[in-house]
Amino acid sequence: MTQNREQWTVLKDAVDGEWIAQQAQALVEIPSVTMQEAEVCQYYAAQLRELGFDVDLRRVNGERYNIYARLAGAGDGPSLMLNGHLDTIPIGDCVPCRREGDRLYGRGATDMKGAMAAKLGALRALKSCGVSLAGDLWLSAIVGHEEPEAEKDGPLALIEDYKSGRVGGDRILIGEGWNELWVMSMGSMVFNIELSSPRGGTHTTYVPFKENPIRFVGDLIQRITAYQEELDAGALHPLAGAERIDVGIVEGGDYFNRTPVLCRLSGTLRWGPRASAEEALAELRELAAPIAAAGQLELDVSMIHEREPFETAGDDPAVQATAQAHRFVHDGQVEITGKRIVGDANLFVNLGGVPSFYYGPSNETAHSDGEWVSLTRLTQAAQVYALTAAAYCGMNDNGL
Ligand SMILES: [Zn+2]
Repeated sequence: MTQNREQWTVLKDAVDGEWIAQQAQALVEIPSVTMQEAEVCQYYAAQLRELGFDVDLRRVNGERYNIYARLAGAGDGPSLMLNGHLDTIPIGDCVPCRREGDRLYGRGATDMKGAMAAKLGALRALKSCGVSLAGDLWLSAIVGHEEPEAEKDGPLALIEDYKSGRVGGDRILIGEGWNELWVMSMGSMVFNIELSSPRGGTHTTYVPFKENPIRFVGDLIQRITAYQEELDAGALHPLAGAERIDVGIVEGGDYFNRTPVLCRLSGTLRWGPRASAEEALAELRELAAPIAAAGQLELDVSMIHEREPFETAGDDPAVQATAQAHRFVHDGQVEITGKRIVGDANLFVNLGGVPSFYYGPSNETAHSDGEWVSLTRLTQAAQVYALTAAAYCGMNDNGL
């Protein structure tokens, strides 16, 4: 690598924290609840144009657009996409937008307009230094991330655009989350386990309680308790720990002295990259099958809202480039983490086939009524993004 500490220092110092703070504030001041992102899209696109980028407005639906821009590389280095979303959850009782000391308050400040402003700040620094990257640096600002109304239409449109070649990037760095390298998420599903009696309902006086379908629901809950204990004591994922099964709804029966025709358990399952959603569902079916057989009950196990797990290697070159950039900015090691929660990387990796990971400024107050972000963290994130591009895409000799 021809890059040296002096070049990195010039690029780091070119990041303008006050400009980023003003951009973040302007973005938070424009409400952009999911499905109502039109105005914020126009604003963000205008800022990119102001920085000298050609902006590709990709209609998702109505006046809702994914916004794409590219800093073209001059060489054959790897290409990187910086990604994030511009929509927020409903504003609700969130504190109004205001700046106070190092903090910017308001809905979307940390989730994730602050990071979107930091990405603008990173592009601005690369441009103002005249950096010539060897590979392309892409930026995508998308709509429709927050569940549920949009059904992930923005992220899915981005995947479509990857497939058609409208956008590119060998890796996707999502600016969501904490200032750590989040490289793995467990899979997640909502499951339904139904036990139904082919005999139909009968007066309970004619059925010994040990044969009552509802007591097999008790057995199933006990089996789930034991299963979680097995998971806790079993092979833990080195980054995300134990897999989890949780039950939120138990339903059964329709009359106090009639045996239930149908009993249902609904809950969530979070499992590691060792298995696909179908395989995890099959394991759940195996768990319940002996209990259904013992009660001569019919068993139906199904899932909805399933997300496949993802894992990007900690030694992936883009992950390592971000780690190197973090060390330079923070003068300390970055943590590499995995989580049980899912995000857009689960989609980008599994549906788009693009290795992805997260590195954000912060996430601690996301979705809370006191949402805020540290402006210092935004500056530091912008520095990390700019230096990651330099490290991963490569810089040409005439750069800096
Ligand atoms: Zn978010």
